[in-house]
Amino acid sequence: MVQQSYVVAARGQTFVQWLLQLLLLLVCLSVVYVAGLQQDRAYRYEQVKSQGQQLFAYFDSEFARFAAIPKLVSENPALKAAFLSAQAQSTAYTDLNIYLQDVQRASGASDVYLLDAKGDVIASSNWSKDYSYIGNNFAFRRYFIDAIGHGSALEFAVGIRSKARGFYFSHVVSERNHKVGVVVLKVNVSKFEQDREKLNTGYDNEFAVLGDDGLIYGASQPEWPLQHYRSAVAEASDWQWQAQQVNIAHQAYYFTTHPLPELAAQLVFLSNVSDLPYQQWPRIGIACLLLVILRVVWHVVQKRWQGYQALQSRRQALEDKVEERTQALEKAQNALIRAAKLATIGQLSASINHEINQPLSAINTYLASCRRLLRKGQFSAVSDNLDIIESLVFRVHQIVAQLKQFSQSGDNKMRLVALRPLIDNALMITGPELKQAGVEVEVSVPETEVWVEPFRFEQVLVNLFTNAAQAMAEQSEKRLTIGAELFDEKVKVTVADTGVGISQHLLGSIFEPFVTTKTGHGLGLGLSISKEIVASFGGNLSAHNRPTQGAEFIIALSGKMHSSEES
Ligand code: ADP
Repeated sequence: MVQQSYVVAARGQTFVQWLLQLLLLLVCLSVVYVAGLQQDRAYRYEQVKSQGQQLFAYFDSEFARFAAIPKLVSENPALKAAFLSAQAQSTAYTDLNIYLQDVQRASGASDVYLLDAKGDVIASSNWSKDYSYIGNNFAFRRYFIDAIGHGSALEFAVGIRSKARGFYFSHVVSERNHKVGVVVLKVNVSKFEQDREKLNTGYDNEFAVLGDDGLIYGASQPEWPLQHYRSAVAEASDWQWQAQQVNIAHQAYYFTTHPLPELAAQLVFLSNVSDLPYQQWPRIGIACLLLVILRVVWHVVQKRWQGYQALQSRRQALEDKVEERTQALEKAQNALIRAAKLATIGQLSASINHEINQPLSAINTYLASCRRLLRKGQFSAVSDNLDIIESLVFRVHQIVAQLKQFSQSGDNKMRLVALRPLIDNALMITGPELKQAGVEVEVSVPETEVWVEPFRFEQVLVNLFTNAAQAMAEQSEKRLTIGAELFDEKVKVTVADTGVGISQHLLGSIFEPFVTTKTGHGLGLGLSISKEIVASFGGNLSAHNRPTQGAEFIIALSGKMHSSEES
């Protein structure tokens, strides 16, 4: 149940996470969209301004050129002469017509014609055409009225017959301060509309000539001319103006304007920006792709990082465990060492006690002997005994010193020493006891050297000799035989007695601590300590019963044997 609710909570969490990421994606895409759109808009507006300048320059130069022509024509003396003479004879009109026709062709204008002071067309470039203006009266036209009034004029008008839209450039003809007529040059607006193709203004760009009267005189879009671009005039307009944008028939245009004062109009250059929002799609697509790739990369990196961290924590846990186990092991080892030390100390003290007791009881015996000898007045014998006592005291000192040495370090100062003096020392310590028991000692040892720590080896020998003496206590034949031989590259020191022999049931265990048959005075430590001492020399202590009588102990040691035999 708990697990189930946990799973539901986890799912809820991932759903929320996905939702948040989706939101983030949408926000990022919106930012890309808005920033891209703004950038594109700014770029297009700058473009509109610079491209508009080209169009404006073109219009200005064409208007200037066309305006200059009627003026030049009006000042032509030949025209003036023909004009004057024409008033007298109509044949002169023909020359004038041809002249105007030439001007019309050379200038690229639609028509060039001449009106007299009453407004009647008296000569025209289209004189030979069926729609010739000759004979028409245009006195009502503003280009006529203004030219008579001010000298020159420029007017937009729609042709009465042709219905063609035109720009009319006019200039008065003066003769001796008399205004005798007006030269008119008409340029069809369509000329500009067609010329527009020559301009490098791009596919989405448009232009329009907007009259101050609210009417569109000309435009690159064929539907626009003669529409109203301002709602104030007559009907409502399709053109909705904003700061730098105008909306026409659901299309948005950036625009820039240029005044055409002579025409009482302005030129507007427009660029369609309706498609700008759609132009953001590729951008959004790329951004979307990049974000998705980024998300995937992030996901992979995150997974790797999590894996790495899990590995790290597992490794740390493992290291902690190893550390913990190591500490536990160290603790256990320390406890073991302590236990071993305690055991060793216990054994050692028991051994020391044992070893010291022997020289002490020997001293006791020698002291008793001294008293006896003193009473008898045998002073030299007393002196001998005292020497022995002195050496025994020295021995006790040495044992104690050895104990100190042992407690200080486990070092065994092993060296190659002659065997015989070691045996003699041990016999000296056990001498009183052996003598008292009536034991016969037989030493049969060739010149031999053994690798031992001398004092401790003597302890072993003392131990073995004492045990032998005790085993022979009840025997009629009491002989202790000490020998040595080389066997298997080892020196074998043998200690044999004629005692009771080792009890059958003890044969396998006499070297274990506390195994004893001596009720009352035995600790059962002597042999176990001896075995350990010999083992510390790299040797071995073993025992068996002799086939004839008694027991034999064999100490196998590293060493050298020189001659065959010596006794
Ligand atoms: P302890 O002398 O205090 O009993 P030891 O370790 O020296 O301890 O001896 C253990 C036992 O081994 C003795 O009690 C005895 O029974 C047996 N033993 C040792 N030496 C001899 C020997 N030479 N002959 C017969 N038995 C022996």
